[in-house]
Amino acid sequence: MKTIVVASGNRGKLAELGDMLATLELEVVAQGTLGVGDADETGLTFVENALIKARHAARATGLPALADDSGICVDALAGAPGLYSARYAGRHGDDAANNARLLADLGGLPETQRGAYFYCCLVLLRHAEDPSPLLAEGRWHGRVLTRPQGDGGFGYDPLFQPHGFAGSAAELQPLEKNRHSHRGQAVTALMTGLRRELRRTHTKP
Ligand code: IMP
Repeated sequence: MKTIVVASGNRGKLAELGDMLATLELEVVAQGTLGVGDADETGLTFVENALIKARHAARATGLPALADDSGICVDALAGAPGLYSARYAGRHGDDAANNARLLADLGGLPETQRGAYFYCCLVLLRHAEDPSPLLAEGRWHGRVLTRPQGDGGFGYDPLFQPHGFAGSAAELQPLEKNRHSHRGQAVTALMTGLRRELRRTHTKP
């Protein structure tokens, strides 16, 4: 395994995954640069959607594929927007509209009732028919703020205050976000399997 395709067109995710995978002896290519568009996310769970996305990219490129399916799950909204985080306000990937809808849905709820967590599922398929993909997940707990703060990160970061931090996720330096975030946790969990995979493929006769 020398090159993997990342099954995402989300620039925020691509930047974070690229940074975190940079230490590996691996060329990491975004599916868009290979002419691959988004898959239809028809799954009912994060892991199903991650598998759909990875399989779509692996099939289209013939390369091993890494997919991330993630979202924010809000306690007071019974876990919504969850799986539908990217299209919560209608149009896929409209971060400003999604944040505005989240604020409106939570109305004037007090701090104690604004608990939420980010969830990330990562899937690495060695090829489109791989029956035993590498899987990893991460959860990042915190609460939803009453107004956006900071201009880093992407998505719901300006509204999410992680536990143990005074500000929002959009106010963290990228390295610090990656060290703590749902995606950072999932990448760390995936690394052991990924390193083993790289050793195996690099020493194959
Ligand atoms: P997906 O492409 O279906 O996995 O959608 C993920 C969506 O969840 C993104 O478009 C964001 O709205 C949200 N999301 C996932 N991870 C993050 C994050 O690290 N920060 C902020 N929002 C995120």
